[in-house]
Amino acid sequence: MSAPHLVIAGAGIGGLAMALSLARRGIAVTVVEKRTSFGELGAGLQISANSGRILDALDLTLPLKRVAVSSQGLVVRRWGNGSQLLEMRYEPERMPTPFRLMKRNDLHTVLLDAVRAMPNIRLVVGRGVEDLSADENGVTVGLAGQSGSAETIAGLGLIGADGVRSRVRDLTGDASPPVFTGYEAWRTTVPARPGEKPGVTLHLGPGRHAVHYPVAAGREINLVVVRQAKEAREGWSREGDRAIVTEHLSGASPALRELAGAATDWQVWSLFDRKPAAMAKGRIALIGDAAHPVLPFLAQGASLAIEDAAVLARLLAEKLGSEGASGVPAAMADYAKLRAARVARVQAESRGNGRNYHMSWPLSLARDLALKRMGAEGLRRRYDWLYDWCDDN
Ligand SMILES: Cc1cc2nc3c(=O)[nH]c(=O)nc-3n(C[C@H](O)[C@H](O)[C@H](O)COP(=O)(O)OP(=O)(O)OC[C@H]3O[C@@H](n4cnc5c(N)ncnc54)[C@H](O)[C@@H]3O)c2cc1C
Repeated sequence: MSAPHLVIAGAGIGGLAMALSLARRGIAVTVVEKRTSFGELGAGLQISANSGRILDALDLTLPLKRVAVSSQGLVVRRWGNGSQLLEMRYEPERMPTPFRLMKRNDLHTVLLDAVRAMPNIRLVVGRGVEDLSADENGVTVGLAGQSGSAETIAGLGLIGADGVRSRVRDLTGDASPPVFTGYEAWRTTVPARPGEKPGVTLHLGPGRHAVHYPVAAGREINLVVVRQAKEAREGWSREGDRAIVTEHLSGASPALRELAGAATDWQVWSLFDRKPAAMAKGRIALIGDAAHPVLPFLAQGASLAIEDAAVLARLLAEKLGSEGASGVPAAMADYAKLRAARVARVQAESRGNGRNYHMSWPLSLARDLALKRMGAEGLRRRYDWLYDWCDDN
């Protein structure tokens, strides 16, 4: 009997984590990626312990050490005068899994290198999943290339890791469109400044916020400024006009304006929300943004995609071991059941953070008082459920 083989649509962070998690369990995969190149500008990621310990279990601790910064905490400040509302400190050397800060592209490269080293992963780039047929034995996935070329790949199942505008989600019959939130994120990186604390700083203002943290092993600072926008722009990201962000920051604290002033180029992401999908249907499963895009106000979208991958890989390996190829739909159904409550909670918490972050006076006054009262310890306890998660089933 030949080794089990699954198809993954999308070589983003979720798709690559999925491929590695399956391949390490002896399951062969083909990853199909629509893009022809992977480079990306100016975007950072906070990778908290809930997904960080999965990356460690995939033997990525050392390559991540070379590119990430271990956060020493969080500082929350007021937008206008920069006064401090809260400081939460971590001691990374005493944490089993650090809270990592890194460039999105660095994490992607670490995953891609690990994927390329696995003999049971085939990576097909420049071709997108277009259509699909399924029967009781498996799936046949139709691919289309930019040149108009077409081919099919067969597998025991298809995992859609193809992002917020997932074609696989459409193919499952759930074509509810992503909805523009009225916010856009402006992202840039600037050279690190001497004496900067290696942690996350959050600035809260009316209808706006900013967050910055060191990336690239401390050589650069990733800065994200979130502002309201009347309409969404198409595409994954686009270049932003510096004059717009300068004007937007005119009422911000001198420290934030100075940091933003060092930026030479900005990339803009329109922020979309979308109802969670049915995460499994027969031999098709969805992970990451394809299943449940998360607003970035809790910094958990990539982490959830990595969690999804770990849980689905474990269940697939168990069912393939006990029931063979016929166990794939049951594994996918169990995955959907197991993940539903957590992803809904993270989505809701992120939306709630967005409302809190962007409050105007006088609601912001109540928020600031509540934050001060909660203090660092209260904030830490509030998120135990999120960061302490592990797939211990
Ligand atoms: C401003 C901002 C800040 C963020 N900060 C954080 C953070 O700090 N921490 C965090 O955890 N998350 C963060 N996120 C969220 C995170 O970036 C996403 O949730 C995460 O990248 C989703 O990964 P994914 O693999 O599911 O999808 P994607 O990264 O979108 O990958 C999908 C892949 O599928 C490919 N694809 C698309 N269609 C097809 C097709 N038909 N066939 C084949 N391939 C296809 C795409 O080209 C792409 O490579 C942030 C997001 C934003 C916008």
